[in-house]
Amino acid sequence: RVKTKWAATFPSFPATSLALQNFDMSYGEQLGALWPSARISMLCEQKYGALLNNFSETTGQVSDLQMKGAQDFVLCGISTPGSVPRSDRAEADQAEDVLKFSPGIQCFVFPKSDTSRFRPARPDSSGVLGYYLLDAASILPVLALDVQEGHSVLDLCAAPGGKTLALLQTHAIKKLTVNDLSDSRLKRLRRMLQDYIPREIWSENRVDITSCDGRTWGEMGRSTFDRVLVDVPCTTDRHSVLEEENNIFKRSRTKERQRLPLLQTQLLVAGMEAARPGGVVVYSTCTLSQLQNECVVEQALRVAQEELDIGVQVEDVGPLSHIFSTTFCFAPDRRLGALVVPHLTANFGPTYFCKLQRVH
Ligand code: SAM
Repeated sequence: RVKTKWAATFPSFPATSLALQNFDMSYGEQLGALWPSARISMLCEQKYGALLNNFSETTGQVSDLQMKGAQDFVLCGISTPGSVPRSDRAEADQAEDVLKFSPGIQCFVFPKSDTSRFRPARPDSSGVLGYYLLDAASILPVLALDVQEGHSVLDLCAAPGGKTLALLQTHAIKKLTVNDLSDSRLKRLRRMLQDYIPREIWSENRVDITSCDGRTWGEMGRSTFDRVLVDVPCTTDRHSVLEEENNIFKRSRTKERQRLPLLQTQLLVAGMEAARPGGVVVYSTCTLSQLQNECVVEQALRVAQEELDIGVQVEDVGPLSHIFSTTFCFAPDRRLGALVVPHLTANFGPTYFCKLQRVH
């Protein structure tokens, strides 16, 4: 009885406030001078990118986006002095070889400090939508995956599918396996793909959609894929400071939140198992948390080596971050991977990504 009374009078803090308190304690220390600006940016309206859908009639779309002042950040990065000087798409494709990133992806953004918004995408004459709006930083893990012609690719935690759509833009994948544990989120992904991808692509059987616990993938399809994207569930920092609904900082979800690093490690280890020797795995999140980013990568490398005899090395994504630093604000001096930190002039992210290569 006493317990009930205590529970009834216990102040119930909004989950968004609990998230902010938690971040102030951990990110203040972790990011130092970058945190106050990242904090205010996450509380402000985020910036979007328009991922061009090259399955639609793109000519009109591109000139429309350019007329409004948006630019393809991938092409701009490649054309930046000090990277590889390039001026058109054909040359950009050559640069993709030099810098080793996935080809064919075009994502339009408004310049730094320009807070214009994109209009919702319009369908072309066959009803296919011209672009997909998403956090432009979420394209970086897909670029880092370095998908090449004929590759088989696993997107382990795929829904609602922004990165899946970006993967398909490469037109290079022989077989794409799209997996997610959640049936309802997979339904959303299917609907989205129907709006963006013509039927022939489905009928060619190049996209396989599965609904498994990604942690068990290593046992099911060991050493199979050329490329594996492991875009794990995380504290989704921006959502957690803004929305009460589905907020992982609710007291009732404390245990689930505390178990996230373990789940993330298990998913990454499964991704490493699913990759063939020589294959590439990219781990990504939308949190600033070191515990869910670098610490997970370190722990997964240990588990893979010690428990599964799988050797994995960390690849340098420095050159990739360097060429895109005119669009995104990157945290300095990352030992493992790269971190996009939200900033008022470039309010993208958080996005963390780390590129790994399976050695044996
Ligand atoms: N890659 C997606 C995109 O770009 O739209 C976002 C993925 S979201 C960050 C993480 C996803 O992991 C959620 O859709 C969730 O349902 C899924 N998930 C959670 N636990 C999982 C598990 N054990 N196996 C596979 N997927 C899981």
